[in-house]
Amino acid sequence: MSESNRSPENATFEQIGEVLRSHHSFVLLSHIRPDGDAIGSQLALGFALMAMGKSVRLINEDGLPENMAFLSGSERIELPPAVPLDVEVAIALDTATKPRLGDAALHAASNAGIWLNIDHHVSNPKYGDLNLIDSTSPATGQILYDLITRLDLPLPAESRDAIYVAVSTDTGSFQYPSTTAKTYEMAADLVRRGLDVGTINSQTYDENPYRRLELMRALLNTLERTPDGLVAHWTMRDQSRIDLALRPEDSEGLIDVIRAIRGVQVAVFFEELPDGKIRVSMRSKDRRYDVCQIATEFGGGGHALAAGIRMPGPIEEAKTRVLKAIHRRFDAAKPSPLS
Ligand code: AMP
Ligand code: MN
Ligand code: MN
Repeated sequence: MSESNRSPENATFEQIGEVLRSHHSFVLLSHIRPDGDAIGSQLALGFALMAMGKSVRLINEDGLPENMAFLSGSERIELPPAVPLDVEVAIALDTATKPRLGDAALHAASNAGIWLNIDHHVSNPKYGDLNLIDSTSPATGQILYDLITRLDLPLPAESRDAIYVAVSTDTGSFQYPSTTAKTYEMAADLVRRGLDVGTINSQTYDENPYRRLELMRALLNTLERTPDGLVAHWTMRDQSRIDLALRPEDSEGLIDVIRAIRGVQVAVFFEELPDGKIRVSMRSKDRRYDVCQIATEFGGGGHALAAGIRMPGPIEEAKTRVLKAIHRRFDAAKPSPLS
């Protein structure tokens, strides 16, 4: 749609509900390299809409990651078809900027007349016709839980489990400070609705492929810490992907290992992608070290405590540029004592 029609304001739940109720065909999209919140959000809203009798397609540029295949209904996640879908409404979920949906996914959704944008990234520029951006929410899955329950839409078992996994994976298992009483109340409600906590946590966290641990070993060999101990970083070369037969999701979440080092305020993961671009993942423990601001300097985005960048290589140059930017900002933040 045209720039001038874009609403900078959030829509109400009722306005979103009106679009959902009054249309029949939907395509639900999420970001490239999808994580638990991306896939979980697609399944959560997708199965609620299917239970309303709607025609729903769930498309992701990179398809379903292997580590999310345990979610029931996940076989509905498809790669983008070559020909644009005949759908009325496209819904972008958990996706900070429209290009992060991916070119093929955007092409597949290009016939949609209405775009909804539901997300929790503070950097989201509200690129939908109707937007529901709540940066206080720890996960898009929690926004969808609010939406579904407040609008009294169906919440089938697939949606229930997907919401739990979306929120669990985006909060580091309900640990990050974005986790609120509301989050635990939501989780309690999902358990009351029949969610099997032991099984779903075990499926989410106790099923690492061996190659993921081999990757961790390779990463540990590259671990470095700045002399002041504030920043820890490690690096994955594309060669590791080839040597260990890695899948894109194998590196997901490993950054938490270096985030957990005592004294470290910011953890950075540099990953060389097959196309030569560099994926930079950043985590912070302290809002004074807002990694989203650093990501934004390089055209990336995310949240204050978790943000990412895709930038040109070569990797050594990317590392130097990002680490310099971090230090520039942190030196400014230093006057206030850290501990
Ligand atoms: P990651 O480190 O990839 O897990 O990403 C951390 C957070 O930042 C997630 O919420 C991502 O959606 C967001 N993010 C990662 N990369 C980018 C990017 N290139 N542009 C905008 N947001 C990003
Ligand atoms: Mn995500
Ligand atoms: Mn998310």
